Parts: sequence; C-alpha cells; structure tokens
Amino acid sequence: MKLHIQNNFITELPADPNETNIPRQVQQACFSYVEPKKPSNPSLIHASEEVANSLGLSQEDILSVDFLNVFSGNTIYPETKPYALSYAGHQFGNWAGQLGDGRAINLTEVVHDNILYTLQLKGAGPTPYSRTADGFAVLRSSIREYLCAEAMYYLGVPTTRSLSLMLSGDQVLRDMLYNGNPAYEKGAIVCRVAPSFIRFGNFELFASRKDHTTLQLLADYTIKHHFPEIKAEGVEKYLAFFQTVVQTTLDMIIHWQRVGFVHGVMNTDNMSIHGITIDYGPYGWLEDYDSNWTPNTTDMQYKRYRFGNQPQIALWNLYQLANALYPLINEAKPLETILDAFSVGYEKEYLNMMQNKLGFMTKVDTDAVLIESLLELLPLVETDMTIFFRNLGNVQKADTPVIALDKIKDAFYNEKDLDETILDKWNTWLESYRNRINEESFSDAERKEEMNKVNPKYVLRNYMAQLSIDAADKGDYSLINELYELLKKPYEEQPDSQKWFAKRPDWARDKVGCSMLSCSS
Ligand code: AMP
Ligand code: MG
Repeated sequence: MKLHIQNNFITELPADPNETNIPRQVQQACFSYVEPKKPSNPSLIHASEEVANSLGLSQEDILSVDFLNVFSGNTIYPETKPYALSYAGHQFGNWAGQLGDGRAINLTEVVHDNILYTLQLKGAGPTPYSRTADGFAVLRSSIREYLCAEAMYYLGVPTTRSLSLMLSGDQVLRDMLYNGNPAYEKGAIVCRVAPSFIRFGNFELFASRKDHTTLQLLADYTIKHHFPEIKAEGVEKYLAFFQTVVQTTLDMIIHWQRVGFVHGVMNTDNMSIHGITIDYGPYGWLEDYDSNWTPNTTDMQYKRYRFGNQPQIALWNLYQLANALYPLINEAKPLETILDAFSVGYEKEYLNMMQNKLGFMTKVDTDAVLIESLLELLPLVETDMTIFFRNLGNVQKADTPVIALDKIKDAFYNEKDLDETILDKWNTWLESYRNRINEESFSDAERKEEMNKVNPKYVLRNYMAQLSIDAADKGDYSLINELYELLKKPYEEQPDSQKWFAKRPDWARDKVGCSMLSCSS
C-alpha cells in the first residue's frame, strides 16, 4: 500500500511541545502529537473503493494487512506522525472553551492527482483533548457516520467522506439513553477523508485566548493551502476567506434543506471551514415534513437545531467565526456587510432550489407564493418529504387535481387524516401547480427528468440505518453493503430496491435510533 504523504499541517503550524497523552489545556499550538491506541483485534467491515481510488489505493490495497493495520490505528504509516487538532466551540449557543479532537486522530495528509486529502481516524482512542471521555466510538454511531457521509456525497451534498469502517475488537461502555444503564458495545473506527478537518472552532480557540499570533498563523496556513484562489493580501485576504466560508456554508445548508437532512448538533466545533458536512452524530432525515423536527434528544427542549432553523443557526455560527477572525481585520463593517448578505443570498438560493424541486425550468415571480403555500400545506397531515417530491415528478400537465392527488397520495402517512378542508387546500394547490407547469413549453418527460435530479428517490432513512446496525451487531454486514450500494445512486430508479422507497414503518416511529437519537456515541 503506497500513499503519497504530505505533512503540511504538522510542519508549518505550531505543535504542542508536550507529547504525553493526558487531558489538558493546550496553549499556543494548533495540534498535539498523539498515537492511536492499538486495537486488540481489528477487522474490516467495509471500505469505499471510490474513496480508496481517489487516494491512489486499489481494491487489492483495501484487502491488504497494511490497510487493516493503518486504518485501525494498529500501525503508523512510515514518515507520518499522527496528531489531534486543538479547537474550541459554542455548543447549543454557549461558549464551551477548549474542546479539540477528543476522539479523532489525524493520520496524515495525502496527495493524489494533485488533490490534497487529510485522513483521520475517529474512535481510535484518547487524546489530550478527550477531557473526561474515553476517545472511542461504538459500532452503531460509526455505521451511521460511515454510511451517511457517503450517502450525502452521492446526493451531491458537500461532505467529509468515509474510507473505511473497522471493528476494533474492543468493548466500549456507553449509557446510550443517558438513563443510568450503561452497557458494553462493540468499538469501531471510521477513517474519514476531507481536505482538512479545520473547523470554525479552531479559530475561536485562539481568538478567545487573545493569541493573535497563532490565530494568524492558522488563518494564513488555511488560506495558503486550502483557498489558493485568494490572491489578496492583508485584511482583504482574511475578508475574502470569510466571504468564501459564508458562501460555501450557505450552499451546504441549501443542500441539507433540499434533501431533508437535519444535522442535529450544529455547534461551531462541528462546522467545517470548507462548507462540508462534518461530524455525523445524532443527525436524522425528515420523514414527515415537519420543520420543527430535531433528531437530537439533547435538543428536545429548545429545538435549536430543528430542520427549519438550520439556516439561522448557520448564520449564528458564521457570526462566531467573524468574531474570531476580527482581530485579523480590526473593522466590523466589512464583516457585517458579508453577514448581512447571507439572509438575502439564502432566500434567493432557497427559492431557486425549491423551484427546481417543483420542476420549474423558467422562473417566475409568483413561484414564491406557490412554494410558501406548499410549505404550509405539507405539515397539515404527516406527509413524507422524499416520497412527495419524487412522486410530484409523475404529475402531468393534463392531470386534474384529483388525478394529481392520486399520484402523490402515497406520501401521506395516514390518508384518513385528510379531512375535507385539507383536501380542498390540496385541490387548490394542485390546480395552481397545473396552471404553472402548463405555462412552460417543456414536456412532462423533460420536467420529470429534471426533477429526478434534485429529488432523491432513496435517502438513508433513520430506520434503515438502524436496521443495518441491528444486523451488524449480530455480525451480519449484508445490509450495510446493500444500503451502501443503494445510496450510491440515490436519484436512479432501482426497481429491485423499491422496498426502500417507502414511508417509515410504524414500528420505527418511536424506536430508539429510528426517530430520536442521543449524543451518546
Ligand atoms: P461532538 O458533539 O461529538 O462533536 O463532540 C464534542 C466534543 O466532545 C469534541 O471535542 C469531541 O472530540 C469530544 N468527544 C465526543 N465524544 C468523545 C469521546 N467518546 N471521547 C473523547 N472525546 C469525545
Ligand atoms: Mg464534533
């Protein structure tokens, strides 16, 4: 197994001089050297051939002992020196101080085909940032992260990727429901891949300590290696960087809203400066369209991270990043101008995204009203988001509202809930929709084809992930394989997999892991 190693981060940024692996506050350093804990009996559950290929690795490499050893943390790849990043963050709106990679260990950077990747193990043991926790991850949460990151990638949503999923062979103690009933679970390790794992929180850490020297080193490093298109110098350089992060974050949120993804823990330490989805914890997929839904049990009370609030939270987090970068800019006005443009930009992109979901190829002013009325209509009875939008693509120009309703009615969880008033509203809306699509010259087939590119047929529904977890716990990984393959083509019709184009089954409504998740992972 041959990797083209690059060690930019550890050679160019200040290291923690202390190399002991004991929880502590780390000052004036962007990272601490730390080695993964040797797993007692590592075994490979799944690896992504595509991700491996992008790193220059073959299927043969995946099956090698080297691969098993390196990506389980059993051996250190030659000429690399693993490290954990220091960062801070705002959690649930509150300043949390130093956090850092408590259970993530960066192995190295790799260059292949002129693209730079960072490889990181999650769940490979404690680091100086583990605080009171153990540094490990359990199989269930590792499966969820592994599968979802890849599913998101194939949906076209910016995300970290998954290279491999391994069992460590060790047991990890978790109180899954936080109810005083801890139990041992299988430990697992995911190797994640991203340009870097730098978060908003990395900048917040140094700003909070008024360590402007390290702050600037980190910003300069980040821009030099990850934003080479920025040619400006001085204040303009940092503003251009901030502007780019605002835009990519905005784009990412639009994608989340398009596919019905709810992150669940949008703390600033879980926001990548690349505008990619990172840290798959108690995330969930909207099944019935409810913009107030949050999958995270810790978020139940205030629902800060509910589906409909994700754009506002992204903006709130960007304010924290602006505050952190302020010492490099020393002027609030230009930062405020960029932040002020977020909401306007979001409205515009959101409208465009929804027009695409509805199949409008030309855009007209009244679309906003039509979309707004749909968003009021969808939650009146439980309506499956994925099925609704996918089936709407079957509606044709000639369809009366009654025929159109028949085509979308599979999306309703309980058709009996549709009383006369609600039916009337659907009729009115479908009538307007018919008028609207009749204004366009495109054929029904053309519209459907375009809609199918943005309205996925298959997403990783919460219960699907849970079924694969239940089987994997018993040593059966066939469902992980099946879902992995299914979710590689989320927009394609896959007649043999029709069973996954279905509403959440009733048994999954209140089952742990299927509707609500705790942070315990
Ligand atoms: P999260 O909410 O999962 O993004 O984690 C927040 C912080 O807690 C990060 O600094 C993590 O590294 C840390 N953390 C989460 N789980 C563990 C664990 N099992 N061991 C050590 N640190 C952890
Ligand atoms: Mg995190």
